[in-house]
Formats: sequence, structure tokens, C-alpha cells
Amino acid sequence: MLRLPDSGEEEGVEKKIAIAIDGPVGSGKSTIAKLVARELGYTYIDTGAMYRGIALKAKRMRISWEDAQRMASLAGSTEIVLLPATKEELTSRVLLDGEEVSCEIRETDIGEGASKSSTISGVRKALVKLQKGMAVSGGVVMEGRDIGTVVLPGAELKIFLTGSIEERAKRRFLELQKKGKKPEMREVIEEVRERDLRDSTRADSPLKKAEDAVEVDTTHMTIAQVVDTIVEMARELVRSKIQKQT
Ligand code: C5P
Repeated sequence: MLRLPDSGEEEGVEKKIAIAIDGPVGSGKSTIAKLVARELGYTYIDTGAMYRGIALKAKRMRISWEDAQRMASLAGSTEIVLLPATKEELTSRVLLDGEEVSCEIRETDIGEGASKSSTISGVRKALVKLQKGMAVSGGVVMEGRDIGTVVLPGAELKIFLTGSIEERAKRRFLELQKKGKKPEMREVIEEVRERDLRDSTRADSPLKKAEDAVEVDTTHMTIAQVVDTIVEMARELVRSKIQKQT
């Protein structure tokens, strides 16, 4: 569930589009999606946070992340609410059955649990249903692994972010250091490689570029360059949408 702010749209003129941003770990998805949403005044939806929320609840209940049956029933019976980001606070807050868990879900082991449990079809089915519901009124930037292919196949703008494994691991390394951890580069590269493999080879909704997605290789781009590229594409689409409607 998502509490949406007022769309602020003029009556009769549909000006907002849905933007799907997919890509592997470390491709810059979250940072970029948040900034694109802020720039356009859209709602940012972090679908990874939902998988993380389910993984956290399972850990607390001592349910194995690989127990397909129990994980599916857990996903179907959990209330996950994303409170929209604000101009000051770019990250959306996450409520799990009413309790704020925004920080806890960012722990490394919960990321691992989300990656494992997201291979379970029953878990995906429950979360995809919620995610589709969140985007019905448009004006969203939704990021994840299967947004352009499964969750929002009709999104007007689909972006697939990529980056070399070395660059993505470097970003992850710096992120961990910022959190006060002392990571080993070799281990971080291995972790990124494992996540890539699991995300792209799972049977249900593997990570892959939608046919109509625009691929953006972020390896040698700054965050601002990627954001500007996407915002410009979005504005162009909105302009042509308005022209068609008037
Ligand atoms: O994006 P983030 O790293 O927070 O996502 C955590 C995990 O959830 C990912 O490693 C991925 O396996 C899974 N995920 C997914 N589909 C999504 C979003 C996240 O499978 N739409």
C-alpha cells in the first residue's frame, strides 16, 4: 500500500507518466530514481524495500528465506506501507504491519534475505499485486528488477541501468564504508557477482531489460548526468502526450 500525495493535475489533462527503472545491484537505481522523482514532482516507489520488509519479518519469525510455502503466506498476510519521500527526505519510509523499519531493512543480511526470498513465486505474486496498485494514477518513478517487464509493462518510459561489475562493486564498497563497515573489495565483488547471478537466473521474473527499455550505461557517467538524461526523456514524452491530447 502507498499513501499518495495529491497529484496536482489539472482536470482533463493527464500530464504525468509512469517511469520504470530497473537494473542490477550498484547500478545507481535508487539514487537516480529518487532524484528523477524529486525533479519531476513524482512519487518514488522503492520495490526492493518491500522485498526487504518481508525478509525482515521472516527473520524475526525465524522463517527460512528459502521456505517457499511459509514465505509466500507471510508475504500475502503482511501490510507494507511506503510513505512517500519528501523534498527534504528523499528516501521513502517503510512501515511493516504499522512499525517503521526504514533503517533495519538496510542491513546487509536483510538484503541477502530479500535476494533469496524474491526467487519465490508466491512472494513475488503478492508484492507485484501491491506494486501494480500503487502506480494506477501515474506520476510514479518505480525502481526494481522487474518493473518494466512485469509490474508496469505499460510504463511510458522504461530505463535499464547498467554498469561494469568493478564500478558497481566500488559503489557498494563506498556505501558500506559510509555506514562504518570495513569491507574487503574482493568480497564485495563476489557478493555483487552472486546477486547478479541470482537475480538474472531465477525462474520467475528474472532481471532483464524490457524490449522497449532504454539502456543507460552509468559506468562513466555522474549521477547528475544520468538524472538529466532521464528527466529530459520524461519531459519530452509528457510534451508529446499533451500535444496529442490537445
Ligand atoms: O533493490 P534492493 O537491493 O533493495 O532489493 C533487494 C533485493 O530484492 C534484490 O537483490 C532483488 O533480489 C530483490 N528485488 C526483486 N525485484 C524487485 C526489487 C527487488 O527481486 N522489483
